[in-house]
Amino acid sequence: MNESSEKIQVERKEIQRAAKDLRDAHPSEILAWGVKKFGSRKITLACSFGAEDVALVDMLQRIDPEVDIFYLDTDLHFPETYQTRDRLTRRYGKKFIRVTPDLTLEQQAEKWGDRLWERDPNLCCRLRKVEPLKKMLVGYQAWITGIRREQSPTRAHAEVVEWDEAFGLVKLNPLAYWTHEQVWSYIRERNVPYNPLHDRQYPSIGCQPCTIPVKPGQDFRAGRWAGFDKTECGLHPNRKGESQ
Ligand code: SF4
Repeated sequence: MNESSEKIQVERKEIQRAAKDLRDAHPSEILAWGVKKFGSRKITLACSFGAEDVALVDMLQRIDPEVDIFYLDTDLHFPETYQTRDRLTRRYGKKFIRVTPDLTLEQQAEKWGDRLWERDPNLCCRLRKVEPLKKMLVGYQAWITGIRREQSPTRAHAEVVEWDEAFGLVKLNPLAYWTHEQVWSYIRERNVPYNPLHDRQYPSIGCQPCTIPVKPGQDFRAGRWAGFDKTECGLHPNRKGESQ
């Protein structure tokens, strides 16, 4: 085993230990651990302005307002999502980094045809989300996400700290063990601005063409890519390394 693969082994063990030690910690403690371990310039929060993410924005602002927070702007978000971004900016004085795809919607339509999401949402997500994310994460040692175990079977094995094979850095999921109710108690208690679509049966909010409200009793992510065998955009491959 050479020196660099030995170093990787040691780091992986450290991550596994941290995942175990921090499993029952409050998400704020997990965030504080990550900021301390990687430094505020080497860790970043991915924000899609959904309930989980706005809770994390609030926690992170109290821990270290210098940490970069970014969003993947597909140019296809709901107006309410952009309004939520603006309300958060006003509340915290935080500028969110806008990450854009290489192709505008017009260029994408020229190259791949109009309304690609209706024919090949996997390709559309790759072009407008996954590739931009890869570029954004270059230079960081860790990223923070709002995924929770109960959101879907593909997320049921998420740890609070894990190695992200897909993007090659550490991934913090501070809310992995939190429930829907815990997230909303936090939002209400702290009066955090949130996307008003959540009050209209949209528990999970993505791009406008690919998100519909859910019916009572349906899964949190049932309103995403309805009609397709797809519940993830490729940012969070499951634990078996299979991108959903
Ligand atoms: Fe395209 Fe839909 Fe994916 Fe957005 S969610 S990038 S519109 S396929």
